[in-house]
Amino acid sequence: MPENRILVTRSSMPSIEEYIEEIKDIWDSHWLTNMGPKHKRFQSMLAKYLNVNQIDVFTNGHMALELSLQALQLPTGSEVITTPFTFASTTHAIVRNGLIPVFCDINDIDYTMDVSRLEALITDRTSAILPVHVYGNICCIEEIERIAKKYGLKVVYDAAHTFGEAYMDKGIGSYGDASCFSFHATKVFNSIEGGAVCFCDEDFGKELYRLKNFGIKNEEIIDGVGANAKMNEFCAAMGICNLRHIDEEIAKREIVVGRYRWNLTGIEGIQLSPIQEKVKSNYAYFPIMIDEKAFGASRNEVHEALAQEGISARKYFYPLTNTFGCFHGRYDVNLTPVALHVSKRILTLPLYADLSMTDVDKICQIILACQR
Ligand SMILES: *Cc1c(COP(=O)(O)O)cnc(C)c1O
Repeated sequence: MPENRILVTRSSMPSIEEYIEEIKDIWDSHWLTNMGPKHKRFQSMLAKYLNVNQIDVFTNGHMALELSLQALQLPTGSEVITTPFTFASTTHAIVRNGLIPVFCDINDIDYTMDVSRLEALITDRTSAILPVHVYGNICCIEEIERIAKKYGLKVVYDAAHTFGEAYMDKGIGSYGDASCFSFHATKVFNSIEGGAVCFCDEDFGKELYRLKNFGIKNEEIIDGVGANAKMNEFCAAMGICNLRHIDEEIAKREIVVGRYRWNLTGIEGIQLSPIQEKVKSNYAYFPIMIDEKAFGASRNEVHEALAQEGISARKYFYPLTNTFGCFHGRYDVNLTPVALHVSKRILTLPLYADLSMTDVDKICQIILACQR
């Protein structure tokens, strides 16, 4: 392995001094978890930064998703329309709630739900739609909301990739019945582990809050089968520190992405994600789709060539969630042919705020050297 390995991502961290300063008062209060002062402060800072009405923070993005679905009280065994081109969490959140995922195909431009196929999948058993803003690319929100309204369906967005994004000048978390974010270490913004749900309906918020704390209403009344998904004070403190630097981090990512585009735009057989209109981007990922015939090398060959040089790109998202071994025989991957096509050709390149231009150029040179 070469000495200077380049990983696909690198977690953002404040200086150790800044973090120590932030956690000092935890030693005065001895308040470590259960919605303490850091939790409250982090939450209100987030609401402001994300430009959303209401927000609740969680131990991770997965529990944010899973408990959002539970809080909507969808009928057991009802169907939730989603996409298979996502992280395991999205599909697992549906299945773990006793709901049935119905897979809608994606489009091969920005890899989000192909909304032209959505309506045909709706039956009298459908209760909700769970679209994913993949790589920070925003789904076709207007069409999803129009169809949801027409059929009386709930909408929960998996917004794990869209921290800080805005669409039509509104925080991306203000769309749908709920939008779920992840603050995992590998994401654009982290609180070590963490997540959040943005929503508007107050009753939904109360239910959600109860579910993240075992379903406890008060000391003597427990009237929901909840989980434990509370964010602790040390994670909240990390989030508070990282939030102070997030604009700077995103600005640095924008420069990295610009350099990738400069190197890779117009290369035969390499498709880049489009720049979406009316979207304030967070530059979360840089996926390239490689067409072997036009480019002369396959995705797997490029992946291997980079690995040889100590550079880890990721086959993200491969495999599709509807092909996972834990669902063996339950779903037919041939019903989502575009997702299958994309998952075999997609590669996400290393991207983090401090990735140097020299490294970006080196990565692109290795990719271009695969061209035949
Ligand atoms: C990261 C991620 C999640 C889960 O978030 P965690 O904070 O890791 O639990 C869910 N969906 C998508 C698309 C993700 O990338």
